[in-house]
Amino acid sequence: MRDSFVTIAYIAASALFILSLGGLSRQQTARRGNLFGIAGMLIALTATAARMDFGGYGILVAALLPGIVIGALLAWRVQMTAMPQLIAILHSFVGFAAVLVGIATYLSQHQQVGEGEAAIHLIEIFIGVCIGSVTFTGSVIAFGKLQGKITGRPLLIPGRHLVNIALLIFTVALGVWFFRAPGIEGQTALVAATMLTGLLGAHLVLAIGGADMPVVVSMLNSYSGWAAAAAGFMLSNDLLIITGALVGSSGAILSYIMCQGMNRSFLSVMLGGFGTEAATASSADTSQEGVVQSVDASQAADLLRGARKIVIVPGYGLAVAQAQHALAEVVRLLRERGADVRFAIHPVAGRLPGHMNVLLAEANVPYDIVFEMDEINSTLNEVDVVLVIGANDIVNPSAMEDPSSPIAGMPVLRVWEARTVVVMKRSMASGYAGVNNPLFYRENTLMLFGDARKVTDEIVTEMRSQLNK
Ligand code: NDP
Repeated sequence: MRDSFVTIAYIAASALFILSLGGLSRQQTARRGNLFGIAGMLIALTATAARMDFGGYGILVAALLPGIVIGALLAWRVQMTAMPQLIAILHSFVGFAAVLVGIATYLSQHQQVGEGEAAIHLIEIFIGVCIGSVTFTGSVIAFGKLQGKITGRPLLIPGRHLVNIALLIFTVALGVWFFRAPGIEGQTALVAATMLTGLLGAHLVLAIGGADMPVVVSMLNSYSGWAAAAAGFMLSNDLLIITGALVGSSGAILSYIMCQGMNRSFLSVMLGGFGTEAATASSADTSQEGVVQSVDASQAADLLRGARKIVIVPGYGLAVAQAQHALAEVVRLLRERGADVRFAIHPVAGRLPGHMNVLLAEANVPYDIVFEMDEINSTLNEVDVVLVIGANDIVNPSAMEDPSSPIAGMPVLRVWEARTVVVMKRSMASGYAGVNNPLFYRENTLMLFGDARKVTDEIVTEMRSQLNK
């Protein structure tokens, strides 16, 4: 009876997780998607607890409660701009859990399974622990890079690919030793493989340059899914296998989409150090590239008021300044005057896939004026004013025009094709990739210096006072 209840609950939870992923793929349904996910997880937790036949509910509650409280506090307090770091560190927990589950399963269970099964079980344990360990250290390094605790510059040790290959070969050799060891005598090999794959994970992510971090974050998301699926095999838990596979495959698809968005080959990002020789040369070049023209908020408001077609390009600075609500007000005022206002969203804008969409949704910007880069890029030459707000790398023409640039080949929003470009940011500083931006020196570019929130508020005040005249 209890088994059938657990099976039905697991099927229901799996269906809810699939519905959740489906819902999360569109802004209009994302909230519902989240609710499905929460319901699925509650059912999964309850059913898994009901499946425990050795009692131990006290220990379960004692373990769950601090986790729930810490998780809720972290999620409550985290700034949108710090979400990528939070996600990276959460991935590391999944990896670490897979390592612990693997080692504990090996030490406690594997002698109890039959001979053929035992061989498969050993493979599951070894692979699960290795994936978990790569995910753990890789995610910790990604956290450090995103949090600014570790430099975003790639660490390129001589012969790094050979080092990676050597680490892989040693890990396979340890796997053979582990597989052949009787009883639990393979524990030394297992621990050694954990350390080697941990080193591999850290090294792979350390070698990745700043602009490729989006792919790394989604790739680690995928790894954490596979680590969870491996833990599911070790624990013979079907739901964990299904959930892990869902996370693993959706993370892999997202990584592929992000690679396409940045025109990177998946393999080159994985191996790290892509375009870094050029990166050093180009980012070191801080020479003046031309004359900078600047405007103030009142002049920018005048320009916007006189424009018929306007495109707004939001970037990381919008999130830092939390200027989305003020920006939504500017959009409302402009549309009231009959202007055609659209948003252009680059796939890696901000620090998180979908970062800008979340901000705009928070400010209730209508979905039908928000366009993806590919939908809007070819129409930018018909636009009167493009307002770039807190964005930099995603509008950098050197990605298209300078083959030696570290971001060469990355598709960008061709904002310079518009009649006038207004770039709102605090200084001439570079963006995440650390690359100069020739856009700021173009003849049709006007810099609007200041904090995005403060300046957008000033534009709103200016526009309202003109309306009241
Ligand atoms: P960038 O990091 O290129 O540029 C953001 C700009 O915002 C900065 O140049 C900064 O200039 C400005 N800024 C910062 N704070 C403020 C503020 N308070 N007010 C106004 N401006 C501000 O961001 P983009 O969105 O253009 O590009 C994203 C970059 O991040 C890409 O390189 C991408 O690869 C990378 N990335 C993306 C991830 C993702 O998943 N989306 C994950 C990890 C990295 P100033 O200091 O002069 O104000």
